[in-house]
Amino acid sequence: MSGTVRGPEPQVGACDLSGLTHPVSGGLAPFRPPRAAYIHVPFCRRRCDYCDFTLVVGRDGMVRRYLAALELDLDRLREPIEVDTLFLGGGTPTHLEAQDLHRLMELLQRWFQLAPGAEFSVEANPLDLLDEARTEVLRAAGVNRISIGAQSFQADELRLLSRDHQGTDVCEAVARIQNWIPNLSLDLIFGVPGQTLESWRENLERALALRPQHLSTYGLTIEKGTRFWSLTKSGRLRPLSEDLESRMYEMAMDFLPSKGFHQYELSNFAQAGWECRHNQTYWAGATYHGFGPGAARYLNGTREVGHRSTTTWLQRIETGEDPVGHRETLSDENRAREALILGLRRERGVCRQEFLRDHGSDLDQLGGVTWTKLVTRGLVESTATGYRLTRAGRLLADSVTVELVGNE
Ligand code: SF4
Repeated sequence: MSGTVRGPEPQVGACDLSGLTHPVSGGLAPFRPPRAAYIHVPFCRRRCDYCDFTLVVGRDGMVRRYLAALELDLDRLREPIEVDTLFLGGGTPTHLEAQDLHRLMELLQRWFQLAPGAEFSVEANPLDLLDEARTEVLRAAGVNRISIGAQSFQADELRLLSRDHQGTDVCEAVARIQNWIPNLSLDLIFGVPGQTLESWRENLERALALRPQHLSTYGLTIEKGTRFWSLTKSGRLRPLSEDLESRMYEMAMDFLPSKGFHQYELSNFAQAGWECRHNQTYWAGATYHGFGPGAARYLNGTREVGHRSTTTWLQRIETGEDPVGHRETLSDENRAREALILGLRRERGVCRQEFLRDHGSDLDQLGGVTWTKLVTRGLVESTATGYRLTRAGRLLADSVTVELVGNE
C-alpha cells in the first residue's frame, strides 16, 4: 500500500486535457467515477478555542460505536474500489488508541485498494506521533503522507490557540517519523492575536527547518459558535488588523517560494511534485467519496454531507436511517460556478477548454464583463488558456469570487 506520491509538476496556465472524453464542442462530459475518498474521524483530546469542526471531546468511549457505524456507512460502496487518494481527517484521526487505529485501517483496507503510487494521507496531532504504537499502525498500513497540525512554534501563540502541544513536540514528532514517511506536511496559522511579523517569520523558518515537502498556511478565522467568537464579541480577544494579516500572508507568498515551495493554491505551498493530490480533487471540481459525520461527498452532480452532529450521525446509522444531514443536487450552472470558484484557488487558474469539457460552460460567458473589470483592476490575469488570480487577487480572493458568482 505504500509508495512514492510524487506527481507531475503543474504548469501555470496549462490545461490538462488528457482525460478528454469527447471533442471540445460543448455539452457536458459524463461524471467520472470517484478516485478519491475522505474519512472523517471526529475525536479530539480537547476542542481548540477557534475550532468549529465536526468532532466530540471527552467521548472516547464512543470510538468503538463510531467504527461499527463507519463499517455500515462503508457498506454503501457495495464492493471495494480502487482510489488514487485516501485522506483521513478530523477531528484528529491519530487520537484513536493504536488498537482502534488498527481496526480502522483494517476496515479501510477491506474497501479501498490503493492504486500504484496512490497518496494515503492522515492528519495528526504532534503528541500522538510520539506514541510508537500509533505510528507503527500508520506505517504498517501504508500511510505515505502525514499532515501535522503544528500551527505555531511560539509558546504564547500555542497557548492562546489552546493547543495541547509545544513547538518542541512538533520537532520530536517529525524526528520520529521522518525516516519512513516520504511526504510530510505542516499546518501553520497566521493572524493569531498578539502575533507579529517577526514571530510569523520565525514560525515559517522553524517549519522549513524540519524539511517538510508541503506547508499549509491558514489565516485565523473567528467562526460563530466558537469560544474565540464569544471572546471577541465581549472584547476580551482583539483580532489582528486586516492589514497586518495581509502582510503575514504576503510574507508567506514571498518567503516560501524563495525556499523552493511554490504556492499551488491559496493556502498551500509545496515543493514541485509534492502538491496534495487529494485536495486537488476538490479544487478541480471532480467527484469524491466521503464517509463519517460531517464528511462531504460529491457524486453524479449531487453533494451530500454526513450529519454534523456525531451522535445524530451514529444514531441514524444504527437505526437504519439516512445519515446525510444535507443533500443538494447542483444545477449545471451552479456546478460550473462552483468549479470556477474552486478553480481560481489554484495557481494554474481555470482553463477554457477544460472548463468546457468538464462543466459544459463557456468560461468567458460565465464571468461576462466581470472578467474585464477584474483584469483592469489587476486582480485577475488573462492567460493564453484562461484566467488566474494575480498576487493582488489572491489577497482579495473571496471578494473576487463573490463578484464572479454574482454575475448574471
Ligand atoms: S485539534 Fe484540530 S480538529 Fe481538534 S479541536 Fe483542535 S483545531 Fe479542531
